[in-house]
Amino acid sequence: MSGVRTRNESAWLLPNDGTRTNHQLRRDMRRFSDRDEVDLVIVGCGAGGATLAQRMARRGWRVVALDAGPFWDPDSDWVSDEAGSHHLYWTEPRVIDGADPVPLGSNNSGRGVGGSMVHYAGYTPRFHPSDFATWTNDGVGADWPISYADLRPYYQQIEEELPVAGQDWPWGDPHSYPHRPHPVGGNGEVFLRGARKLGITAKVGPVAIPNGRFGNRPHCIYRGFCLQGCKVNAKASPLVTHIPDALAHGGEVRADAMVTRIAVDERTGRATGVHYVRGGRERFQRARMVAVAGYSIETPRLLLNSSSSRFPDGLGNDFDQVGRYIMVQGAPQTAGRFSDEIRMYKAPPPEVSSEDFYETDPAQPYRRGFSIQNVSPLPITWAEHVAAQGHWGRALRDYMSDYVHWCCLGALCEFLPQAGNRVTLDEETDRYGLPVARFSYSQCDNDTQLLHAAQRVMEDILHAAGADEVITIQRFAHLVGGARMAADERHGVVDGTCRSFAVPNLYITDGSVLPTQGSANPALTIMAVAARAAGLLQAGARSGPS
Ligand SMILES: Cc1cc2nc3c(=O)[nH]c(=O)nc-3n(C[C@H](O)[C@H](O)[C@H](O)COP(=O)(O)OP(=O)(O)OC[C@H]3O[C@@H](n4cnc5c(N)ncnc54)[C@H](O)[C@@H]3O)c2cc1C
Ligand code: SF4
Repeated sequence: MSGVRTRNESAWLLPNDGTRTNHQLRRDMRRFSDRDEVDLVIVGCGAGGATLAQRMARRGWRVVALDAGPFWDPDSDWVSDEAGSHHLYWTEPRVIDGADPVPLGSNNSGRGVGGSMVHYAGYTPRFHPSDFATWTNDGVGADWPISYADLRPYYQQIEEELPVAGQDWPWGDPHSYPHRPHPVGGNGEVFLRGARKLGITAKVGPVAIPNGRFGNRPHCIYRGFCLQGCKVNAKASPLVTHIPDALAHGGEVRADAMVTRIAVDERTGRATGVHYVRGGRERFQRARMVAVAGYSIETPRLLLNSSSSRFPDGLGNDFDQVGRYIMVQGAPQTAGRFSDEIRMYKAPPPEVSSEDFYETDPAQPYRRGFSIQNVSPLPITWAEHVAAQGHWGRALRDYMSDYVHWCCLGALCEFLPQAGNRVTLDEETDRYGLPVARFSYSQCDNDTQLLHAAQRVMEDILHAAGADEVITIQRFAHLVGGARMAADERHGVVDGTCRSFAVPNLYITDGSVLPTQGSANPALTIMAVAARAAGLLQAGARSGPS
């Protein structure tokens, strides 16, 4: 583990006195002026942006990372309370349509330093090798311009830095984790019992929650408020895993700074910096290189809003690829009632999962697959689950009173990338006067078949574990794609190094570059892709950026 500290000292830079934020580090942070031409300006300080910032600051690059949201202080800004945590989400206006419109907001994206990982559930599986060649292997989806082997070393690095705890993982590329698995709560025990009865393999982990102290980060206290920001600092997010090290190495995080446009020199075609609004003032940060990491909806929106006479249809959009192939995972949830008390809230929400159904099964009519994880809705989310079933009034109250007897499983179904599932600009504008994103989404037959198959398996598991009633609701989770990597500019926006085809000093290092999504939660892969891009940038520009 000592190797981690030499690569990323974040966990040791946090205070060791019961508080959660190193205020001195933030106070003493290097601050660049807009007039400085920094080496790299990054838009968005979440999974992809913060990883890139930490890597490049450590390399000695002059880095500024701008985020539209606040620089969170877990002690003063977060509460262990569902209703009080709404401010963590990106709730700016967006328009949705298509045959299966995807509700946007709390279940999709975050706002502020740390990005969506501040309120993510903490589950961090790897993608499988097959995810990188679904077109070649299964005739659906797309092939990545890179392979699993290209990402493997970065998966290992990030798993050590978060760090990840879990049992040895038998699926995909079998591997182990740096920390041993956490003890399992009531919800996970039900899942393990039901799976065992049906001959389904289920394993504990991987969660990005250290099992024990890690640096100055304390042990998890198993109260289940991971989606509310983890006041304890046990759950990993870039706010605690990468930003402290970036600051210690001269990087600047400029919070509450909404980037409105990427500027390009019309003559050279190179990016020159970004326009942003902070404290009500319009400003411009000069930079030799720009990286965008604003999440699947906001990244394509920013590119489309950055049109110019050289790029009249949006930056990097000469081949009409920006905003296309956005994916969500189908995420049905099945709850089961047991006569024993389960108390599903008493643990991190996901703890146990099965990837037995992840790969294409030639015996099935559909391609690709799904994973199953336990999820543990807190009371308000539980009420939404029950209400989505049509229960209201007295019936809803009865289900709520019965909360401690319920257990919940969730599936992640690999919905396929489709060109028509895309972000475009709407006529509606936001408070900065910028056109908002219109996100159009429709499922294909394969997607719908996966949903039904996953629901059947979850209901079977809960029945096998002894449930006397099961209820399933349909929902979506995670968004990736929209500026995907590809072998050439006719099929994507960036190449396999995350460099834009159209603008040589513009990079995209967030979830929008993913060409497929597997049925794994995406954050670890996004961080690994960003770490790889950083490694290639460092190797290719030993004397500074080109
Ligand atoms: C409720 C929930 C649970 C989840 N659970 C899991 C899980 O268990 N495991 C997992 O792997 N994934 C999970 N995810 C998904 C995961 O958090 C995201 O996939 C991941 O964080 C996306 O990384 P990113 O770099 O693309 O964007 P983000 O991490 O969202 O970072 C984008 C940042 O950009 C900023 N930004 C956007 N536009 C601008 C702009 N114009 N100017 C300045 N700043 C801007 C935003 O404020 C934000 O901070 C979950 C997500 C949610 C919402
Ligand atoms: S369960 Fe653990 S990781 Fe989750 S919020 Fe509580 S202390 Fe943090």
